[in-house]
Amino acid sequence: MTWVVVPAAGRGARFGGDLPKQYLPILARPLLAHTLERLARHAGVSGLMVARAADDTRYPGWREIGGKPVLDCIGGASRAESVLAGLKALPAAVRDKDWVLVHDAARPCLRQADLGRLLDHGCAHPVGAVLAAPVRDTLKQADDAGEIAGTPPRERLWRALTPQLFRRATLRRALEAAIAAGDAVTDESMAIERLGLRPMLVEGADDNLKVTTPADLALAEFVLARLGRDE
Ligand code: C5P
Repeated sequence: MTWVVVPAAGRGARFGGDLPKQYLPILARPLLAHTLERLARHAGVSGLMVARAADDTRYPGWREIGGKPVLDCIGGASRAESVLAGLKALPAAVRDKDWVLVHDAARPCLRQADLGRLLDHGCAHPVGAVLAAPVRDTLKQADDAGEIAGTPPRERLWRALTPQLFRRATLRRALEAAIAAGDAVTDESMAIERLGLRPMLVEGADDNLKVTTPADLALAEFVLARLGRDE
């Protein structure tokens, strides 16, 4: 059984405005509804756990989407704490060694084929896997003065996307250790890597974008409108 933890407790400070970004309308529905529906549609997904903010008054209280159970819990002050809260709140039927997916609430354009490939490769790997896209631009390392200090070769650079797939107990241990050490991990893989483990990279579509700015919202709407329901 593979549940998805969906961290949705962010304030979307980079987006501006009062409405948290997971509730922004895309194709006339809240962004979060699209995200959850695309996850629930995949046969490999058993249920959804949404980590939401304590003062979130907009959460519609979903109990079921596409025939899959939806639960919610209160997230934390950081993404890592929200994911950890979600992992702890999963039903007891989800065992320690079961695989758990983590997917950003703010990524509504996930393709079924990418999710399927991640599950196939990740579940066959000892550590797990991360959906990622190869870097297409040349990246620059900045120094304190804003001058270019280096150009890492891009052949081995990837952008980490979500979902990310790990075993429930391993991810819990990794996040607890990162939080206890005060390390700000910006994705689940970073917490796993801290333990010396090496997750697998699984290539996914570039347009699985994270809605961060108003321009991303327009782009996500464009992508979603073109993606077929079962794509
Ligand atoms: O801030 P960022 O865009 O990296 O957030 C990624 C995801 O993590 C979003 O879906 C956001 O709602 C979630 N998040 C959270 N709890 C926080 C901060 C972010 O669930 N405290």
